[in-house]
Amino acid sequence: MVEVSIKTDMIIVGAGPVGLFAVFEAGLLGLKCHLIDNLDRPGGQCTELYPEKPIYDIPARPKVTGQELVDDLMQQISPFDPVFHLNQQASDLIKLENNNWQMMTSEGEILESPIVVVAAGAGSFVPKKPKYPNLEKYEEKSVDYAVYKMNKYQDKELVIVGGGDSALDWVMGLEPIAKKITLVHRREGFRASPDSEAQFKKLVADGKVDFVMGNVTALNGPDGKLDNVGVETVEGEYVELNCDYMLPFMGLKISLGPIAEWGLNLNRKHIDVNTETFSTGTEGIYAIGDVCTYPSKIKLILTGFYEAAVMCHAAFPYAFPDRKMATGYTTTNTAIQERLGV
Ligand SMILES: Cc1cc2nc3c(=O)[nH]c(=O)nc-3n(C[C@H](O)[C@H](O)[C@H](O)COP(=O)(O)OP(=O)(O)OC[C@H]3O[C@@H](n4cnc5c(N)ncnc54)[C@H](O)[C@@H]3O)c2cc1C
Repeated sequence: MVEVSIKTDMIIVGAGPVGLFAVFEAGLLGLKCHLIDNLDRPGGQCTELYPEKPIYDIPARPKVTGQELVDDLMQQISPFDPVFHLNQQASDLIKLENNNWQMMTSEGEILESPIVVVAAGAGSFVPKKPKYPNLEKYEEKSVDYAVYKMNKYQDKELVIVGGGDSALDWVMGLEPIAKKITLVHRREGFRASPDSEAQFKKLVADGKVDFVMGNVTALNGPDGKLDNVGVETVEGEYVELNCDYMLPFMGLKISLGPIAEWGLNLNRKHIDVNTETFSTGTEGIYAIGDVCTYPSKIKLILTGFYEAAVMCHAAFPYAFPDRKMATGYTTTNTAIQERLGV
């Protein structure tokens, strides 16, 4: 079967605030963008690490939370219909004979564009893996680190591990459809919002989910398919919990991942750029936001926004030398206003 790639004007790796604003700047110039992010929603660090914390240094926004900023960016870019490829990592990048770049994602999607913008922050958020014996044997078949399709767990026996928001939220989210859920956590205290903790405790009190305090010590079952999970309880007992799927939620760590293999000028886990264009030095590949570095770099959202604007104005004439670039003020330029739908 011949794989068909999705063609677009600009591929943006990373849907953090800077990747999102790049969609806006590209849209003003008439460019269409596809974004790839391995998180399940746009927003990068703002939504993943501090959704409810106020930010005080966004120009003309005296106070805005991480989530509000991302919601507003999503509204601002909506006239340009960006396409999001979420829950997948941008993995392989190759140069085609027509000079375009072809990007492959971890979910097997293939995108093609003359412009690739790396707006990857500190890299991909990847799940921290627990150290259980033979864990790799069960990964993908019986152990999942994220919930992509809830109906996979319909009428199944689940063991969820962890004491943070993700673990408790998925206990609540999957309880109505799973056959049985047991939460395993090593102590009585949780690192979750008080509201989630209260809801979880009510489910336990109502006998709808089980809670075992202890540590997972064994995974049992043939051919990567779990039969049960062995747990050493805090009382020192060993119990085996029947299990079709185990979902460990131990938090996330950040890693540059495949981007480090793309042959770009890396400088201590960042990418060196030319500040006139935000080009990486490899034709057609640009880097903006936290991932890029140069002598006066300040890692702030506002600097990323500036970098996105300069990058788009440099990438356009490089990639589309025959097209006229409609630059100007949003207040007065009618071509730009038409694109914005105002
Ligand atoms: C607690 C905290 C408070 C902060 N407060 C402020 C503040 O007050 N003001 C301020 O200006 N800044 C603040 N920052 C910094 C700010 O959040 C960052 O500067 C900003 O998020 C950078 O945006 P970005 O889009 O470059 O990267 P990120 O927000 O990191 O987004 C990058 C995205 O790229 C994705 N990604 C990476 N690699 C891949 C890949 N290979 N495939 C698919 N997806 C990939 C990641 O999943 C991520 O979603 C704060 C940061 C933290 C942690």
